[in-house]
Amino acid sequence: MILKTKGSPYDINTPIIGRVTRIPENIEYEIFISETIFSKTWYKFKAVLSTVKIISSLEIPIIHSIEKLDHLDEGDIVIINTDGIINTIYRKNSDHNFLLFTERCNSNCLMCSQPPKDRDDTDYFFSQYSQAIPLIPKDCPEIGITGGEPTLLGNRFLKLIKQLKEELPETELHCLTNGRSFAWENVAQKVGEIDHKRLMLAVPLYADVYHIHDYIVQAKDAFNQTIQGIYNLAKYGQRIEIRIVLHKQTIPRLAKLAKFIYKNLPFVEHIAFMGLEHEGYTSFNIDKLWIDPVEYQQELTEAVSYLSDFGMNVSIYNAQLCTLPENLWKYSRKSISDWKNIYFDECNKCDLLDQCGGMFASGIKKHSDFIKAIYFS
Ligand code: SF4
Repeated sequence: MILKTKGSPYDINTPIIGRVTRIPENIEYEIFISETIFSKTWYKFKAVLSTVKIISSLEIPIIHSIEKLDHLDEGDIVIINTDGIINTIYRKNSDHNFLLFTERCNSNCLMCSQPPKDRDDTDYFFSQYSQAIPLIPKDCPEIGITGGEPTLLGNRFLKLIKQLKEELPETELHCLTNGRSFAWENVAQKVGEIDHKRLMLAVPLYADVYHIHDYIVQAKDAFNQTIQGIYNLAKYGQRIEIRIVLHKQTIPRLAKLAKFIYKNLPFVEHIAFMGLEHEGYTSFNIDKLWIDPVEYQQELTEAVSYLSDFGMNVSIYNAQLCTLPENLWKYSRKSISDWKNIYFDECNKCDLLDQCGGMFASGIKKHSDFIKAIYFS
């Protein structure tokens, strides 16, 4: 799945955001995709995208000579940048849309799939999303908010959450945050005051002891801040999910972490145990992280069963069913976003293909040695 493409920019002085259309009559949309040299229709739109090379001078922002535009569907929202790069912000026909609020982060996790960038992108992303949010269809079922660490946008984070609530009151918001900013009670209080019932804050917690969590996220005091942040969020009535990535550093204390969560954070709404994604820093730290999923099933079973037996809502994400014992299948979800989800040739022979979530495309590089089709007959 392509989310980014590039062409030659013409007369683009500032980023342009809009919904794309190939239908000339759709003038409520902002950006026209044309395969012809020129038509007067173009002037009805804010900008034009074309695979054709345009050489004449026209008073309209254009990106031309784009190699491919097939990935864009009617109503998709894009941002056209001054350098000719076109990023897809929202795909109308997908249930896996996410808004990347910032690439900055105050942690530096060993297995970060989107390594942080130390540049101030606040203005760019705030401007982008405050324009894009009103264009998102009102019946959008769910949107993810991700980063970097989204709360680093400060007041602008709060403004965007508020705008999402006003523009898309029925849309579930799933915000991935390390939770550390909420250690400052006023931040949690301000989120509480927005009072968006469809906002879920998904916070990673990697151990029941501070030094392991802090090592994994490569940040001193992160554990204490995250725990304080979770308590503050709970105090202000926020919905919380705990996320645990499964790897060599988290497995040894997984059962203890499950007990810690039940005893200290019983108010959280959902706990997700997540298979490792081979993106970003993971490849660099593979020796510190990799353990074949088949080898940690005993620890995973103990942790999942413990929480589930005490009535907590538990899921397993990013796991292949052939690597899980059968008693854990009911917890496994199809969690991998469509644009990075693949199956192996072996999967085509498998009777569980429809139920199995498959794996990350990056799993081609490193995956379980035990991927094997399951047959029922
Ligand atoms: S063989 Fe493929 S479809 Fe079958 S359980 Fe394994 S990963 Fe899933």
